[in-house]
Amino acid sequence: MSSTCTPPTPVPSGLAALEQRLAQDLQYLGWPAKRWMPSRMHDGQAVLDVAIIGGGQAGLAAAVGLAQQGIDAVVFDRSPAGFEGPWATTARMETLRSPKELTGPAMGLPALTFRAWFEAQFGIDAWAALDKIPRLQWMDYLRWYRRVMGVTVRNDSSVAAIVPRPDGLVRLDIRHPGGSSTVLARRVVLATGRDGLGGAAIPAFVQGLPRERWAHSSDALDYARLAGRRVAVVGAGSSSMDSAATALEKGAASVDLLIRRADLPRVNKGKGAGSPGLTQGHYDLPDADKWRIRHYINQVQVPPPRGSTLRVSAFPNVRFNFGCAVQAVRMQGDSLAIDTPRGRFDADFLVVATGFRIDWFSRPEFAAIAPHVRAWGQRYTPPAGEEDTELTDSPDLGPAFELQEKTPGECPGLDRIHCFCYPAALSHGTVSGDIPAISDGARRLAGGIASLFYREDFEQHFAQVLDYSEPELLGDEWVPAGTDHIAPSPITP
Ligand SMILES: Cc1cc2nc3c(=O)[nH]c(=O)nc-3n(C[C@H](O)[C@H](O)[C@H](O)COP(=O)(O)OP(=O)(O)OC[C@H]3O[C@@H](n4cnc5c(N)ncnc54)[C@H](O)[C@@H]3O)c2cc1C
Repeated sequence: MSSTCTPPTPVPSGLAALEQRLAQDLQYLGWPAKRWMPSRMHDGQAVLDVAIIGGGQAGLAAAVGLAQQGIDAVVFDRSPAGFEGPWATTARMETLRSPKELTGPAMGLPALTFRAWFEAQFGIDAWAALDKIPRLQWMDYLRWYRRVMGVTVRNDSSVAAIVPRPDGLVRLDIRHPGGSSTVLARRVVLATGRDGLGGAAIPAFVQGLPRERWAHSSDALDYARLAGRRVAVVGAGSSSMDSAATALEKGAASVDLLIRRADLPRVNKGKGAGSPGLTQGHYDLPDADKWRIRHYINQVQVPPPRGSTLRVSAFPNVRFNFGCAVQAVRMQGDSLAIDTPRGRFDADFLVVATGFRIDWFSRPEFAAIAPHVRAWGQRYTPPAGEEDTELTDSPDLGPAFELQEKTPGECPGLDRIHCFCYPAALSHGTVSGDIPAISDGARRLAGGIASLFYREDFEQHFAQVLDYSEPELLGDEWVPAGTDHIAPSPITP
């Protein structure tokens, strides 16, 4: 052995090793797949196969699913890079609710799971010691996911208009710090989030109150402003606990939770409903069953996580007030006077943790399509006692999450827009936003889009088959036999 041998190539460890393993897995699986779609130009401008609006976990998983199908996608998100979705912006919980073991957007790739990413950096013992995933760590994971999967994301790009056209293209008007631009895409995916087809549900009782005296739990509010203040929080879901805890930690003088119910729900029926059967089978259920299960879960409500509730109750200056549906709120002197069936509460600031609602008309980017989207209200009338505004307003989606027209023929191209955000749940089950089944949803979306593209471009694909001329046999692999070895047959002519 030579004394001047070169040092061995260092074996990568930690994240570098994981990334190497992932790259090899992707290579073994042929992922991204080879492009097979015809490229399109329009007026000298390249047309995108798919434009995805929203670069949260749903948009990223959708892009990765499409790449697996050999379809190019570009993601547009109005947030700065690395701040997509609620995790590092408006969310206030310490940890995710979801169990750490869920594989989320990993799309069946072990090396792409949160667990692989975590263990590569912090080790197996740290994984064993981890209870729930810290909120900001989930954001870090999504940042890594986007990088290692090579998703094309255009940040600081706010989609201001989505206009389907009769010529098979959808126009997107995009605003970014440098100005504005127009993009044409054959299909568009709305991965716009939990509130992605509307916004915060604002109760009527805040109308007329000074804006600096109240906030919705999803508002970007600096809770340090609440130090020394008496705060009232309406609601008892996870967001109300997160808002209450944050206010208390920032030094609120007191927090009154105003809870309509007589008690908190104890059981997370949404979690109990989760199964591969629901994931794969919800879409094919009869309408009445889809409605029944979604309505039941809405009605019983999901309890706040135990950890979030304990985070609040650890403070001596919080009160859980049950049976306190807010009836009216008014300014009285310098205080907010909040009337409830159990009496009046005085506060300096009100947080309404009242969830989200679907309202296409409230979002300027949907102006061209809002009047034409078919909702479940047009499809199904629930039995008495099962009325449900959220479900009535939910879009009635086709098998690839595509929107459908309220009146056929009035908005050609509407079905080129695919709804891959939470409000798809009534049509498809919870596969389009939450962590548990996001990969299943992304695969269904990508497969459905591939199928639609193939059908649409069939003549081109068929022409390609006719033209295809790459020989596999060259004709020199055999010699045609003579006839000497064949006995005459009585039926041979
Ligand atoms: C506070 C909170 C806690 C949650 N905790 C959990 C949990 O523990 N477990 C779980 O499974 N689920 C949880 N969820 C539910 C769900 O997982 C999250 O809402 C998740 O962020 C959904 O991912 P998404 O990609 O659908 O949407 P988002 O992450 O919200 O991403 C949507 C993106 O769309 C962009 N966008 C929207 N409109 C436009 C436009 N016009 N132009 C450009 N960009 C646009 C936004 O900027 C945003 O980045 C939680 C939700 C919230 C709000």
